[in-house]
Order: sequence, then structure tokens, then C-alpha cells
Amino acid sequence: MTDFLPTGIQLTYLVAASLFILGLKKLGSPATARQGNLWAAVGMLLAVVATLLDRQVLNYQMILVGLLIGSVLGAIAAYKVEMTDMPQMVGLLNGLGGAASALVAVAEFGRLVGHQAIPIDANISIISSVFIGGVTFTGSMVAFAKLQGLISGSPITFPLQQPINALLLAGFFVATAYLLIDPQNLPVFVGMVGISLLLGVLFVIPIGGGDMPVVISLLNSLSGVAAAAAGFVVMNNMLIIAGALVGASGLILTEIMCKAMNRSLPSVLFGAFGKAGASGGTGAAAGGDKSVRTVDPEEGAMMLGYARSVVIVPGYGMAVAQAQHAVRELADGLEKLGVEVKYAIHPVAGRMPGHMNVLLAEANVPYPQLYDMDDINPQFEQTDVALVIGANDVVNPSARHDSASPIYGMPILEVDKAKHTIVIKRGMSAGFAGVDNELFYKDKTMMLFGGARDVVAKLVAEVKQL
Ligand code: NDP
Repeated sequence: MTDFLPTGIQLTYLVAASLFILGLKKLGSPATARQGNLWAAVGMLLAVVATLLDRQVLNYQMILVGLLIGSVLGAIAAYKVEMTDMPQMVGLLNGLGGAASALVAVAEFGRLVGHQAIPIDANISIISSVFIGGVTFTGSMVAFAKLQGLISGSPITFPLQQPINALLLAGFFVATAYLLIDPQNLPVFVGMVGISLLLGVLFVIPIGGGDMPVVISLLNSLSGVAAAAAGFVVMNNMLIIAGALVGASGLILTEIMCKAMNRSLPSVLFGAFGKAGASGGTGAAAGGDKSVRTVDPEEGAMMLGYARSVVIVPGYGMAVAQAQHAVRELADGLEKLGVEVKYAIHPVAGRMPGHMNVLLAEANVPYPQLYDMDDINPQFEQTDVALVIGANDVVNPSARHDSASPIYGMPILEVDKAKHTIVIKRGMSAGFAGVDNELFYKDKTMMLFGGARDVVAKLVAEVKQL
């Protein structure tokens, strides 16, 4: 039995790792994403059970207490957190992942120091885990605070910021070399923990709110790398594999987000993007005395019902209003009238990667009706009505030509090229980037003011009358 157990655990890890990989593959398409999630969850359950059977587990009581506290907090958060607050939640969870990895490394250092010589490979794993975990923890906390509005979302910069960061990083490398020569040196180790935590803060504060999609996915990737490093610290294959998968997929997501914003990773990390001072309009009610055209739900329903093709563009406002079910109902009603309905998904619409896909999937919108930006943009010129529901930045044409705008260069959904555009929002407030939207003042644009759920429900009722 005792010999069988480690082999059994490693075999279970192999099955779990395979389930993770297959699950990730399935997450690549909306049609198979739910199944992928389930497979990966089963893999995680196997991994956790196998780990709990490990002979190295010394204290089940402590594990049980941790499990209970974590499960209760997790369940409360899952019920309470609004879908619109998900990015903060993801930021927080990334940070806690980083903190856990760093704590594992600190605990291992504490266990070894003063008792036995710390082998160089163990020391390198500990240092890597402390560094990546520490940076991820404090970086994610700053990202959380920015998204939650606890601190300003605009870049926070100060003189000599980059040289100071470089100096701290160099200090960390010097300390690493020192600790490899003198592995028992506690003050140097404590200093390294401090530098890691400080670097996390300094790394995220200069990044503007507009770049948060990229930062969140990068921190997600880092939390995986930190977990993999912690896996080397405690010599656990499962942690190494799971961490590496999170690290790699997070990096792919970061690349997708960079592409969606038309930004390079170095410019996000070192560019202080979205710093106040970039013009391109201001916040609420910008636009001065420019006038807009409005429609009421009855007129809006007529425009939609008598169109041949309608492209629905959902954004953050649809998520806030939880209007996705009403939107699906509207699409069904229009299709009954013979209207061709498509949905255009911008990669950074909403407040987290895949936000719109998740909401529309919840409302059982058929996947083939979802189009990504590259596929739908060439079709707008032939579209009778583009219906923008609570989206703003992702349809702002100034991103194409106003070099002073903080969203300049970000590819947008080109709804202004449709024959008509209806925009549903509550007023003239700016979106996340805080800039005015010239789309609203164009001749072909009709504003339909009101909360998205309410307005779409009225449209559904009006369309039924046609
Ligand atoms: P925006 O944030 O640009 O605009 C949303 C609009 O929705 C607002 O102008 C608001 O106007 C309107 N709105 C709010 N509540 C309601 C409601 N109840 N009913 C109707 N309308 C409402 O959203 P987009 O989706 O266009 O763009 C996303 C932005 O978020 C981008 O700048 C992106 O970079 C950023 N971001 C994206 C992340 C991601 O991963 N997807 C993460 C972090 C940031 P009004 O108040 O007048 O109603």
C-alpha cells in the first residue's frame, strides 16, 4: 500500500493534467466551453484528493480549517459579487494565488534556515516563487484597487520612476547572488521579500485604467508562473503543470488583449497609457452644445423590425443592466419578422476578457450568431441597423483618427459605417476611458435613452406589435 500510494498519486496527477489540457482546449470555443470547464474542474478535484492522500500531509485539521474558511468565503463571494465586478474579483484571486505561492516559499525557507544547508536548486525555486508571487500579489491588489475605484484609475507617475524600478530590480538580482552564496542569510531574504512586494506596486501604478484588460491577464499569467515556482519548491508535479498551464494560457490571453487594444506589451508596461492630459474629450456629458438625435422605443422598434439586417453590439452597459435575456428575446422577435440578426463582440467590451460571450451564452444566444471584430467589421456597410447596447469606447470612431485620444489606435467595431445606428444608454456619460464619443453626434445615429434592460424590454413589446 505504501509503495502503491505515491505511484497512484502520480498516475492521478497524470489523469488530472490531461483533463486540464483537454479542458483548456475545449475552453477555446464557446460551443464547448462549459464542458471544458467541467472537465478541468473534475481534474482539479482528482488533483486535490490525490494530494490529500499524500504521506507528506502531517496535519489534516489545519487543512480542514483552511478548506472551510476558503469555501465559505468563496461561496459568499460567488453569490454576492456582481457580474460587473468580476474584473476586480479576478484581480483579487490572481493576487491571492501569488500570495499563496510566495507564502509557500517563505514557509519552506523558514523550515530550512538554521537547520540544514539549503541546496542551490531549492534556493533558486524559493527565490523565484517569492519574487513572482510577491510581485503578483501587490500588483494585483493595486489593479483591484484601481478597478474598484479605491484609488485613481489614471496612471500614477513620479520622476525617475523607471530608473528606480530598474535599481530595485538590480538590487533583487544582487541579493539573489548573495543568498546563493550565503543561503542562511535571513535579513537578505526578508529584504528580497520586501523588494518583490514593492516592485508589484510600482509595476502597476503607472498603468492606466485603459490598459487594465492587459494587466489583469498578465497578472493572471504571473500567478500561474508563481504557482509553478511554488511547485518546484515543494516538489509537486501537479502544481508545476497546473501553474505552467495557467502561465501559458494567461500569456496567450495577454497577447490577445494587446492585439485587441492595438498595443505592445512594453508600451502597456512602461508607457503610462491613458495619463490625464491626453485630450480627446472629457468625462460625463462631454460634447458641449453638440446635439444628438433621439428616438423612442416605438420608432426604434420600427427601424429594427423593418430592417433586413441588424447587428447587435453589446457593451458594459448591457452587463450592468443584466439585459442579455431581453436582448435575446428582441433578437428572437426580429428573426420572426425575417430580420437577419448578428452579434458583434469586441474583445475588450465589458470589463473582463470574454465578458460579452459569457453573458450571451447565459442567455442561450446561438454561437454561430456571434461574430468577432475582424469578421463583422467588413459587414457593417451592408448592415441596415447597428444596435449598440451599453457600449461606448469599443464603438468610438475617434480611436481611428484622434491621436490625442487615450483610445487612439484601439481597433473598434465600425458601427458608424452601418446605414443607421441606434445607441441605447442612459445619458451622455463617457465610458471606461472617460472620453466623449463622436458616434453619438453623427447624422445616422439615433440615441435611445434609458436603462438597457428597460429599453430593450420596451423594444421587445413594440416589435411584437409589428
Ligand atoms: P464603456 O465602459 O466604454 O461604456 C459603457 C456605457 O454603458 C457607458 O457609457 C454608460 O453610459 C452605459 N451604461 C451603463 N449602465 C447602463 C445601463 N444600465 N443601461 C444602459 N447603458 C448603460 O463600455 P464598452 O463595453 O464599450 O468598453 C469597455 C471599456 O472597458 C473599454 O475601454 C475597455 O478597455 C475597458 N476595460 C475592459 C476590460 C475587459 O477585459 N473587457 C477590463 C477593464 C477595462 P450611461 O452612463 O450614459 O448609461
